[in-house]
Amino acid sequence: MEKLTGRSKVVSNKKLSFWESIYLPAIIGGMFITIKHFFGKKVTINVPEQTRKRSDVYRGMHVLKRDDEGRERCTACGLCALSCPAEAITMVAAERKPGEEHLYREEKYATIYEINMLRCIFCGDCEEACPKEAIFLTDRLVESEYKRKNFVYGKDLLVEPVEKDKRIDVSKRQTPEVLEFKKNKKFTHNK
Ligand code: SF4
Ligand code: SF4
Repeated sequence: MEKLTGRSKVVSNKKLSFWESIYLPAIIGGMFITIKHFFGKKVTINVPEQTRKRSDVYRGMHVLKRDDEGRERCTACGLCALSCPAEAITMVAAERKPGEEHLYREEKYATIYEINMLRCIFCGDCEEACPKEAIFLTDRLVESEYKRKNFVYGKDLLVEPVEKDKRIDVSKRQTPEVLEFKKNKKFTHNK
């Protein structure tokens, strides 16, 4: 019969020779490969004592940014949650009260902002969708946990520290090209 793909293989049922039937040559061959890798260059590292350098634009744990004056940039518009394919983001919006101008940059802010790190697929869509440069993925890893509920990260873990020397640097992701791209009204998510 004519083959459709040409990828099929004819399985041989030929009788094993004496050497094949005692399996010793195959075992010795396998041991040789194992010993060769034993003395070869290691491809693994000793975690957590050693760490591998991650890319500057690695998509790891998120950060909610503050502006230069230390105010939270997020205005709880919900665009990140809407763009999230994993439905990992939830938030509750609140009105900024008089006297809170030093805390929140916009008149509306997220009183609750949560990301379920077990749902997140670290695609970066939330970062791209945010019109306020408020959310970024970083090269930090999400810590391992024993309980599922501990993977729901709230503002206490997501908002960066107010101290300037402890801020999370996202300059490698926030390049002029990216900022220009975010202004381009040709793309629906920039409208
Ligand atoms: S990185 Fe992707 S999956 Fe994770 S919260 Fe952002 S949009 Fe959702
Ligand atoms: S992080 Fe950005 S997109 Fe998400 S709610 Fe805040 S301002 Fe809107």
